[in-house]
Amino acid sequence: MQVSIACTEQNLRSRSSEDRLCGPRPGPGGGNGGLVGGGHGNPPGGGGSGPKARAAVVPRPPAPAGALRESTGRGTGMKYRNLGKSGLRVSCLGLGTWVTFGSQISDETAEDVLTVAYEHGVNLFDTAEVYAAGKAERTLGNILKSKGWRRSSYVITTKIFWGGQAETERGLSRKHIIEGLRGSLERLQLGYVDIVFANRSDPNSPMEEIVRAMTYVINQGLALYWGTSRWGAAEIMEAYSMARQFNLIPPVCEQAEHHLFQREKVEMQLPELYHKIGSQSPHPCLSLGLTITEIPFPHPVLSVLGVGSVTWSPLACGLITSKYDGRVPDTCRVTIKGYQWHKDKVQSEDGKKQQAKVMDLLPIAHQLGCTVAQLAIAWCLRSEGVSSVLLGVSSAEQLVEHLGALQVLSQLTPQTVIEIDGLLGNKPHPKK
Ligand code: NDP
Repeated sequence: MQVSIACTEQNLRSRSSEDRLCGPRPGPGGGNGGLVGGGHGNPPGGGGSGPKARAAVVPRPPAPAGALRESTGRGTGMKYRNLGKSGLRVSCLGLGTWVTFGSQISDETAEDVLTVAYEHGVNLFDTAEVYAAGKAERTLGNILKSKGWRRSSYVITTKIFWGGQAETERGLSRKHIIEGLRGSLERLQLGYVDIVFANRSDPNSPMEEIVRAMTYVINQGLALYWGTSRWGAAEIMEAYSMARQFNLIPPVCEQAEHHLFQREKVEMQLPELYHKIGSQSPHPCLSLGLTITEIPFPHPVLSVLGVGSVTWSPLACGLITSKYDGRVPDTCRVTIKGYQWHKDKVQSEDGKKQQAKVMDLLPIAHQLGCTVAQLAIAWCLRSEGVSSVLLGVSSAEQLVEHLGALQVLSQLTPQTVIEIDGLLGNKPHPKK
């Protein structure tokens, strides 16, 4: 592997705290890297003044399998999970703003929805610079400001790719990542977002430029983590390897579509990245002759930073509800101007077959005492490596219904999942 020595040595001397945020989590013994003979005050993973200080770093054991535990919010019943294998704890149900905020629903309804979400323990709110041409971010920002909730109590994610009409206002160039994110922050009236996502992959921008720009915005404090959205597994792998090669910050998660009729990526490809990615890239320091115990974070073997998934459209834009029972209701997403593509999809042969499958699921939902939407959301939540499922709602009532999916999750036995798989007939299998 080609290594930039200047870059590596500089990073050996002073690694930023943001880098450490993305490092491996403490082992069962806790602690943060344990300095032998401790007490000299150097931060773990860097800040030492010479080879001796570096050699004193004791690698933390990897987190045992299943160590990233789900916790339950007191009073709300909300479940919290790690975002990928980072330390950030996000609610397993997040709230999205696509179609709705700044567009389909009034600002009052948006405020109701956000308030219900927050009060029920949802801490993850997702938006994008492109949603309603920036109005979704403005609406979200105004509500957050008026509510006065502690900034540390919620997670805001935005996505950068389409910022405007000019050629330079699109894509993942360093210019657009930095300017686009600054624009989002201004609309959100926030000093930083928790996660900035690259909203598409960009064949016109070199991967090294993208990873360096994401590292830059994190080091500048404009974002705390970065992730990808709609990227292929090979592209995520490339970004991860690039980050490890140049000691930059790797992505922590991928936003991917996942629902009863869209399964392959989240169920087959992303778990691979979640489990294996960290151990596949040798640390550049190894080629400088340092041994494993002499290398600060991220550790080459123990650095199991898994890329997790944040999933979207759990109801296939509303199709997985009983309202499309062979007809298109008067008021719903498909009737909104600009969403003819969705109407065409719903009315296509495939769309009709999917509606029939949804009806087939009704007896299972009835047996569990829930709605088909709750069943579908609970089904998404049980997938391995899924940190959070992003909900979309056009009313507070829909949100209250969806929050009930948490109770359904505990009733989803392996037998019920097999039954659902049998009805759907689309369970993806590993390719031989
Ligand atoms: P869903 O697939 O869950 O669709 C949500 C829509 O379905 C609602 O707006 C509503 O529309 C309808 N609906 C929801 N609940 C019910 C119910 N109980 N009964 C009847 N209809 C219902 O999610 P989204 O497609 O909205 O995606 C969720 C979020 O994911 C987005 O807001 C966004 O943040 C993120 N996302 C990310 C993408 C990416 O590229 N990274 C792409 C797409 C989404 P209506 O009432 O108008 O019919």
